[in-house]
Amino acid sequence: MSLVKMRRQAKDINMPCDEEVNVETETQGPGEISDDGADSDSLYSDGNTSYDENTSQHVTKKQRISLPKFKQYRRATDLQNPEFHLGMQFVNQEHLKEAIKEYAIVNGKLLKFDKNGRKRVKVLCRGSRNCAFVLYASRIDKKESTCVVKAIHAEHTCGRVDMLRYANSIWSSERFCDKMRKNPNWIVGQLQDKVREHYAMNVTQNQVYRAKILAKKVIKGLYKEQYERLRDYAEQIKKTNPGSTVVIKTELAGDDALFEWIYICLAGSKKGFLEGGRPVLGVDRCHLKEPCSGQILTAVGVDGNKGMFPLAYVVVEIESKSSWIWFLELLIVDLGIQKGLA
Ligand SMILES: [Zn+2]
Repeated sequence: MSLVKMRRQAKDINMPCDEEVNVETETQGPGEISDDGADSDSLYSDGNTSYDENTSQHVTKKQRISLPKFKQYRRATDLQNPEFHLGMQFVNQEHLKEAIKEYAIVNGKLLKFDKNGRKRVKVLCRGSRNCAFVLYASRIDKKESTCVVKAIHAEHTCGRVDMLRYANSIWSSERFCDKMRKNPNWIVGQLQDKVREHYAMNVTQNQVYRAKILAKKVIKGLYKEQYERLRDYAEQIKKTNPGSTVVIKTELAGDDALFEWIYICLAGSKKGFLEGGRPVLGVDRCHLKEPCSGQILTAVGVDGNKGMFPLAYVVVEIESKSSWIWFLELLIVDLGIQKGLA
């Protein structure tokens, strides 16, 4: 049986892709169709026997149809501004649907899922009556979850919309979580403005309010996870800054070690103070803000230019006599301070 490279016609979107297709032979274009069938995604068609003029070969009843090989969709990089191509593969249908929704929001297009099922996804544009955009994707194999775009007409003839059901509170919380972490005091109106500025999308006050609540839950969760990795952080400091001192104080609660205090004095700060700083030390403290409240106690030296020289710091749940004693005892040992020389 002879193999003929063929491409599915995008306009035949209503035709079931894995049953019968129109095929045409064509000259290979750069990045479109591989010479090596093993590098391309393959479908099988049960079309009738026909005659191909270019190759002077009969196309037999069961043919191998090759889709162009495009890169796989990578959520980490492609989700920001999704683009779709014929033959593009997605790990699963959820990734594909998420990309379609993001595409709709980024481009302001009123996309609608027309044919949904476990095996196939069909998307149309309802931005205007005659908009020709259409995307059809289905599983590459019955046993695998991988989805492949099997037909697409990516051009729109519709205008842009500024409100979509996909731009909801969950989406807002996910996209603006990092910004809300840096700006915890944003009010509802400010977040609304940011969504409008970045995506040209209008979201309601209720959506933004719920988005803030969801983002706060995520941020608090992330802080907890970071505390769980505090010992890894301490080891990393010691490894990358040999001579640094990191001491973690914990309290046992059953089998769990609960964080209490941490002391950090970097090797560079220690060396700089001992070799070039004035023999003066100042101490101070300030509060850490939500979500993980506490206090930070610091020791600051004075350098040769009479400038402040950060030396060491401790994070504690609350300032107390015992926490100050713990901090200063560690600092005295670290700097090798002897009685009468401080
Ligand atoms: Zn459209």
